[in-house]
Amino acid sequence: MTVWRSRVVREKLSWYYNVMINRVPAKFVIARYVGTEGGLSGLSLEELWNLHRELSKEFSRLFAEAKELRLSLRDVEKLEKPKVSYLDVKIEIARRIMSNCHFCEWRCSVDRLSGRRGFCRLANETYVASYFLHIGEEPPLVPSGTIFYGSCNFRCVFCQNHDISQEHPYSGLKVSAEELAAIQDYLRGEGARNINHVGGEPTPNIYTILSSLKYVKYNVPQLWNSNMYLTEESLELLRDVIDIWLPDFKYGTNTCASRLSLVRDYYDVVARNLKVICSSGDPIIIRHLVMPNHIDCCTERVLTWISENCPTALVNVMDQYRPEYLVLRRPENYREIARRPTREEIERAYEIARRLRIDFEDVS
Ligand code: SF4
Repeated sequence: MTVWRSRVVREKLSWYYNVMINRVPAKFVIARYVGTEGGLSGLSLEELWNLHRELSKEFSRLFAEAKELRLSLRDVEKLEKPKVSYLDVKIEIARRIMSNCHFCEWRCSVDRLSGRRGFCRLANETYVASYFLHIGEEPPLVPSGTIFYGSCNFRCVFCQNHDISQEHPYSGLKVSAEELAAIQDYLRGEGARNINHVGGEPTPNIYTILSSLKYVKYNVPQLWNSNMYLTEESLELLRDVIDIWLPDFKYGTNTCASRLSLVRDYYDVVARNLKVICSSGDPIIIRHLVMPNHIDCCTERVLTWISENCPTALVNVMDQYRPEYLVLRRPENYREIARRPTREEIERAYEIARRLRIDFEDVS
């Protein structure tokens, strides 16, 4: 609780804080009360997006009232529920995207609804490897109702969660939207400050996650803990339901990302997505993992980008990198990251953050 004595944290995370203490409704709750009376089945994807844009304007009006503390949870629950909500429109768009999958920038275009699998190895299913109250997250977030989804759309050679992300992606509980909602209610009931969607990677599970929000009973902040390799379309679906963002920003060059996470155009995609979130003023804590021998190419470039494009962010400059997974098994292939960062490297990362006037000390 002492972290909330920091004026910087209170100011930067104020929306999240007010949802956390139930002073205002979470975004997904508001999205249930915005809507239309027409059906969706006859609409093309383009028409659905047009409707989404329209409803987003009504959502923004209510959201602005809630932000100014003029719309409480009780107020919103007194509104009449529409026949088809903004949330329903999002769910239908997500279902269509899945039939030609472009949730992330791999843009596999496979029909996951018919059982085909893309690079993330997932078809029409969501696996929860584990869920619990996590006390190891950043201070403003704990205890965090963390849900670890199986599988991932990255192939990080040093992954700490390689068991669920790469080697046993289907080992958890296979969950429906209703079951995922029950998990969220259980976690909130146990004292979770937020629901923390993580993995593996939550992005391939956007359809199930959005669908679950129809059934969640409690008011609870939704937190997106992700590699942020999602498409602009996915980001548009999530923006009006996620209350706080917890993205990674690891690499300062596409080359480092391609070699160590087997992903293309990483820097461009993540920077593009973060720019959208930062310009919206949403609460955000960016995680940057300091990796050995990657201070100039990654740490310096990422922190510089944040200082220039995302001054509203809190930043966790993370010192806990250790060789894992393929780096541990075949260190000769990854010599430059086959050790922990030195104290000098971590101090240099902190110095860069200080020089750039980044707010990192409360959450690192
Ligand atoms: S989520 Fe990404 S990796 Fe998975 S099928 Fe869709 S586009 Fe491909």
